[in-house]
Amino acid sequence: MRCLALDIGGTKIASALVINGQLEQRQQIATPQADAANAMHQALGQLIADYQGQFDYVAVASTGIINQGILTALNPKNLGGLAEFPLKQSIAQYTDKPIGLLNDVQAAACAEYSQQDPAKVQNFVFITVSTGVGGGIILQGELLTEPHGIAGHIGHSLADPNGPLCGCGRRGCVEAIAAGRAIEAAASGWEIPCTPKQVFELFRKKDPKATALVQRSAQAIANLIADLKISLDIQKVVLGGSVGLAEGYLPLVEQYLKQLPDLYHCAIDLAHYAGDAGLIGAAYWVKQHIT
Ligand code: ADP
Repeated sequence: MRCLALDIGGTKIASALVINGQLEQRQQIATPQADAANAMHQALGQLIADYQGQFDYVAVASTGIINQGILTALNPKNLGGLAEFPLKQSIAQYTDKPIGLLNDVQAAACAEYSQQDPAKVQNFVFITVSTGVGGGIILQGELLTEPHGIAGHIGHSLADPNGPLCGCGRRGCVEAIAAGRAIEAAASGWEIPCTPKQVFELFRKKDPKATALVQRSAQAIANLIADLKISLDIQKVVLGGSVGLAEGYLPLVEQYLKQLPDLYHCAIDLAHYAGDAGLIGAAYWVKQHIT
């Protein structure tokens, strides 16, 4: 089965044919920011026209919550003001092939889970620490997507009731403390303002202020992993995103997790896939659910 996979992010829409797990004809366009609903519909039409006749189904990984084919942006600013968009209906106007949709991090979780031995790992979580913090939860070998597409939005679980206000409206979410955007917000107020990448460079040089900021992020992620382990009996966590993959971050997360009782411990690996996890995971998951 030939798949047309689309990955809709806040800044870019990637597309490719996925044939036997391999990407072909990969393209990338900017996510429309002005007149977002109309522009998104037009952009999808153009992308689908580019691949017409070459695919048997469409798989979409998208940022935001995918509920019954409708895309709801948790933070509309990330999608050019697009708060709700009938994504499945929009695509169906351009093709009569089957269409499946899921959240982009849930799709990446599927791609990462495909690298695990299912006889050893049935309960699995992928965590991306990137601009925000997202996740995908696999229980008994099945990705949780039903009933409302919300499962896995673990960046919005509580890290500190007195922490900063999160973009979602709740105070002290893991994302508001651990994410790249949170690191950036703190470090932009320094005497010499720093990007998260620079914060990590200083952290590796043992700068105390940078170290405190990176430690705060890593501790929030370690506690998140402990909560997931104890509530869902998770056997393996895979960490991704530019912050999650930054040198020195995983050992710190492991160090904080080891300070907790054994029951909270969990094996953590770094992500196998980089930017194509959404495309590959969506193609794989949708194939399982349309046949
Ligand atoms: P996205 O959020 O679009 O999925 P990334 O996973 O690349 O993208 O995450 C972007 C975040 O990671 C930004 O906050 C950025 O400042 C930060 N970042 C990018 N490169 C690095 C790096 N080398 N080390 C630490 N943080 C980084």
